[in-house]
Amino acid sequence: MNISDIRVRFAPSPTGLMHLGSVRTALMNYLFAQQKNGTFILRIEDTDPNRDFDPQAKNIINDLTWLSLTYTEGPIVGGPYAPYYQSERISIYQEYIETLHTKNILYRCFCTAEELELKRRRQIAMKLPPRYDRTCTKLSPEIIADHLAQQHPFIWRIKLDHSKQITITDLAHGTITFDFKHFSDFPITRQDGSFTFIFANFVDDVTMRISHVVRGEDHLTNTASQAALYDALGISQPIFWHMPILCSRDGKKMSKRDFGFSVKDLKDGGYLPEAILNYLAIIGGGNFKQEIMPLNEIAQAFDFAHISTTGRVTYDLEKLQWMNHKWIDLITPDKLLAYCRPLLQHTFPQSVQLKDAVISHMLQIIKPGMVTLLDCTKELAFYFNEPVITAEQLQALEQVEQSKQVIVRSINFLSDSHLFMKTIKEEAQKEQIPLKSLFQLLRLALMGATKGPAINELIDILGHQEAIKRIEKVISE
Ligand code: GLU
Repeated sequence: MNISDIRVRFAPSPTGLMHLGSVRTALMNYLFAQQKNGTFILRIEDTDPNRDFDPQAKNIINDLTWLSLTYTEGPIVGGPYAPYYQSERISIYQEYIETLHTKNILYRCFCTAEELELKRRRQIAMKLPPRYDRTCTKLSPEIIADHLAQQHPFIWRIKLDHSKQITITDLAHGTITFDFKHFSDFPITRQDGSFTFIFANFVDDVTMRISHVVRGEDHLTNTASQAALYDALGISQPIFWHMPILCSRDGKKMSKRDFGFSVKDLKDGGYLPEAILNYLAIIGGGNFKQEIMPLNEIAQAFDFAHISTTGRVTYDLEKLQWMNHKWIDLITPDKLLAYCRPLLQHTFPQSVQLKDAVISHMLQIIKPGMVTLLDCTKELAFYFNEPVITAEQLQALEQVEQSKQVIVRSINFLSDSHLFMKTIKEEAQKEQIPLKSLFQLLRLALMGATKGPAINELIDILGHQEAIKRIEKVISE
């Protein structure tokens, strides 16, 4: 295959919020296209109006944009195989129905839902596989004409060759052979005339010249039916990659109740797109020399030739938090500022008056304490609201009185934070007071906690007047 012929697609159904399993699918398609110089396509599978909770797939498109998973062909940007919404491709599906009908591979099934359910139960009771019994293949042309004249609803079914076996090639599983004697004549339309997922998805993959179908393992049985369609029309199959489903820590499929299930959860929770993608790329994705990598490096490093077969891919929020913490440190100061400024403004409206440089400086100092972006409000609360120090907090410290005296003797130098630190260290040495006690007292005075940024950095953030005010207040208590 010519390398530029590599075409992959992310084909979500717009059923609501984009969940993390879908992001992983989109990401793997994206990385595959990046590494192989191929085309990454977005196609919206909106054939089922009852499940269409995200009109025009706006959430999905916004989420992909936020994640920087840029597609080359798809909604809005267009492309040579437009339209990219299935709801706009009805005439293409109809053409394929006609072709399949002409080839005598389809038949109309007039059985009602109740009749089908009855047949299904009967077969199960007889310990037979619940396959459609092909009643409607036996209808004469006159009876069919009669049903049609009476406008009886029907569905189109594929007439499977039960003697056949069909093999597909899968990047993770190697070859998989399906034996059609186990399969039912599957429907390709619904009674309301709409098209089933299996069929529309197949037609689109063919007409959009998809070379590799990268999707979740839950689609394997659909793949068997689709392989039958490729075979019936004599079209060569794409290569598949069925990926293991993302599970929560207890091994179950992730549910809406798990925090971090959707992109929205994570975005609102202060997670960086860089961290989310980095995390999803490395879990269950082979051996990387290092775990923290930007997307372009991951795209080059990904070993698509040695993908682990199945196994479980577990979503581990703690690991994601660790990665988020690392990425907060890695992104540029400007980016961190852009992410945090609105959060600070929301919690501390007075921050609107602060210059970018001031906020950015503070963020660079407090970022080692941030796991999510939301932590900036927690870490900087001391700046906006002077902490109230309680007697208990002071009593919990060691050598408070001696420390106070050292501070009193050094405080005149505080307008220069470095000189202040130098003096205070010398004084502490003279008095034989451990620096730890001294620093705990200073930090408590400045920010209301005994752990945090370096003292000179705290003084720089607050400005020396505010710092003196806070320290004097504690010393005089
Ligand atoms: N619309 C299907 C889904 O969201 C697409 C499956 C596929 O990628 O073929 O699961």
